[in-house]
Amino acid sequence: MVIGINCGHTLEGPGVGAVGIINESEHTRLVGNMLMRKLMDADVDVIDCTVDRAVSQEAYLEKAVQIANQAAAELFISIHFNASTEHHARGTEVYTYGGKRHLAAVSICSHLAKLGFSNRGVKDGSGLYVIRRTKARAILVEVCFCDNERDVEIYERAGSQDAVADAIWEALCETVIGKEGKKERNKEEFMCFVGEIAHADWQKRRIILPSVVVAQAIKESAWGTSELARKANALFGIKKNDWNGKIYLKDALEQKADGSYYTVEQTQWRAYDSWEESVLDHNTYIAKRSTDGGRTLRYAPLIGCTDYTLAARYLQECGYATAQGYAESLIKDYIEKYQLTKFDC
Ligand SMILES: [Zn+2]
Repeated sequence: MVIGINCGHTLEGPGVGAVGIINESEHTRLVGNMLMRKLMDADVDVIDCTVDRAVSQEAYLEKAVQIANQAAAELFISIHFNASTEHHARGTEVYTYGGKRHLAAVSICSHLAKLGFSNRGVKDGSGLYVIRRTKARAILVEVCFCDNERDVEIYERAGSQDAVADAIWEALCETVIGKEGKKERNKEEFMCFVGEIAHADWQKRRIILPSVVVAQAIKESAWGTSELARKANALFGIKKNDWNGKIYLKDALEQKADGSYYTVEQTQWRAYDSWEESVLDHNTYIAKRSTDGGRTLRYAPLIGCTDYTLAARYLQECGYATAQGYAESLIKDYIEKYQLTKFDC
């Protein structure tokens, strides 16, 4: 199956997206790029139908559709963030040709609604150029209203682009990619694999609670499918720091305190010979990380902590991740959802 993804709008000038509390053009790309990465990691054929610049709105739309049609995409997804004149409107909605409620559209809507947005449902997008002119079955997703305070708050609290890309990805897995069975098995295998290593190490070194380690591994490596997991055997995004082992170069996406994102190009990441080495090094890193030559340990409160809620929060508080909502996501999206505490004994 070939899936065309269009990160809605151009970056500037004609065709640019709405500017609300967050910038539509920026976030369509954050979501879309992450979604494309997930699809590619799962070996789905993905065509990037994003157009960054155009002489007119029409030219932008024509170009996006042309890319999709030339690649014979079977499914086309255009990602957007909504806006309304009074900034009061809220919720998630998707558009299809004739408002047809096909499975993927309904599923995307309900997965996005699960993040906390109100579900505005599947609507008739026959009038939209990218829906009307693509040969593929087309879905235009309006994630939420980028000019509504409440919606943006929900978006950010849910985990921003990570959570939205994940929601769309899950919806596609359940409906069109048809790998769900295989994926569920792989998930189970992945949890057990990391869980056993984390559990054995906890028995031995009492550094970091296994449920937290497994949740981190799942979140950071997208169940072992991320570029770092595949090419560098790294299940966690740990930067080089004082590491003397192998490294892997890849851009890093960081979040500032004000919620905006920036890229650090060619960041050096730790690379390993195996996932097991990655898990053990992650724990060693937590145990030893110090920024003052060993006088104080950065993750001291976390070490040996037997409460997963506290442990996840300490991780974030002590500066493990810049992404807002990291700890809450570990707790809700992984530890509790997949009952990872079974490894905590
Ligand atoms: Zn839009």
